[in-house]
Amino acid sequence: MNTSLRIAIVGAGPGGLTLARILHRHGRAVSVFERERGPLERPQGGTLDLHVESGQLALQQAGLEDAFKRIARYDDQGSRLMDQHGRLLFEHPSPQDGDRPEVDRTQLRQILLDSLPQGCVKWGIGISEIRPMNDGCWTVHQGDTTHGPFDLVVGADGAWSKVRPWLSPYQPQYSGLTFIEFGIDDVDLRYPHIAKLVGRGKLEVEGGAKAIIVQRNANAHLRGYAIFRVPTEWAANHLSLAALKAQFAGWHPDILGLFDAANETVLARHIHALPVGHRWSHRPGLTLIGDAAHLMSPFGGEGVNAAMLDAAELAQHLLHTPDCSAAVQAYENHMFERVIPAAQGSAEGAAIQLSHDSLALSLAHLHQHLTPQ
Ligand SMILES: Cc1cc2nc3c(=O)[nH]c(=O)nc-3n(C[C@H](O)[C@H](O)[C@H](O)COP(=O)(O)OP(=O)(O)OC[C@H]3O[C@@H](n4cnc5c(N)ncnc54)[C@H](O)[C@@H]3O)c2cc1C
Repeated sequence: MNTSLRIAIVGAGPGGLTLARILHRHGRAVSVFERERGPLERPQGGTLDLHVESGQLALQQAGLEDAFKRIARYDDQGSRLMDQHGRLLFEHPSPQDGDRPEVDRTQLRQILLDSLPQGCVKWGIGISEIRPMNDGCWTVHQGDTTHGPFDLVVGADGAWSKVRPWLSPYQPQYSGLTFIEFGIDDVDLRYPHIAKLVGRGKLEVEGGAKAIIVQRNANAHLRGYAIFRVPTEWAANHLSLAALKAQFAGWHPDILGLFDAANETVLARHIHALPVGHRWSHRPGLTLIGDAAHLMSPFGGEGVNAAMLDAAELAQHLLHTPDCSAAVQAYENHMFERVIPAAQGSAEGAAIQLSHDSLALSLAHLHQHLTPQ
């Protein structure tokens, strides 16, 4: 890689920050543009398990294994499955030697931010468009303000990427599923019966083509997702704990008790996806990583892992291939194929997870993946 290459990364999510960190570690300067005004402007969402072969590998290349171990919660890898009547159908206690520890998104973002030089992330700059120049370079724009020029602009700006339209005509499509996010604070002290119900890890309750997933986060916080099929407009008129409870009327009182214990912050996350196998023809000076490239439904638990592996692979190609365009093309050709199984699995998950026989399918999946051989 030409050490004077000017690189802009749009988006300081897990993908963009991992790319910035690996390049910085090898002495390459990058500019990261992030529309949020600071790392704590918005809750970053639920807990994540980073897989050895992708998310953890990327952190290793970023030189952040020790920092990762400090935030990884090895105690919270358990899994429970219940039906809507409160019957426990599957239980896998948290294995002490499991290799998929949970991390909180905010903490993951922080270890990446701490590893970057001051000023690398330019907060409060929401890129409204990018423009080509005559010499093959690109500029990025926030309203009337121009930044650049850059030799390479990497769109790490998630589902509604402003970079993607220059590469692909596709827009994410609504899957029909909405996740309503809720939180329960200080669960061990205030609601010990709920802490026991959820266990050390994740509780999934399914029935009647609906589901509730509750995950244990750091600091005795639980994050829940109530999942069902509604038009996107539903949330605009019905977003409250009472409306949520009404959606699950008739479910076991212990499960409905989750909504009674929840704090007032309720957020709707409409699940969109790009087509499985989404790809584009290479265009010099531009590329995409993470959700911008291959947004998928969260059912496979692969999105963050895929974004971080994209970042690690793109960084390696840039570092070891002198020609920038050749490096980006090599990354793209491999990534397009690599993400297909994950995207396919997520699409299948979205299609069948809340179907009439979702419990049988979930049970089979848990037995296949979590029962000791
Ligand atoms: C409900 C839910 C649960 C999920 N659970 C999991 C899970 O358990 N495991 C898992 O692996 N994945 C999960 N995912 C998916 C995961 O969140 C994403 O795949 C992952 O965050 C993608 O990372 P990214 O860096 O590509 O994009 P993002 O995390 O979306 O980051 C993009 C960044 O770009 C910024 N940005 C956007 N537009 C602009 C702009 N125009 N200018 C400047 N900055 C901009 C955003 O503010 C953001 O900081 C879940 C998703 C959802 C919705």
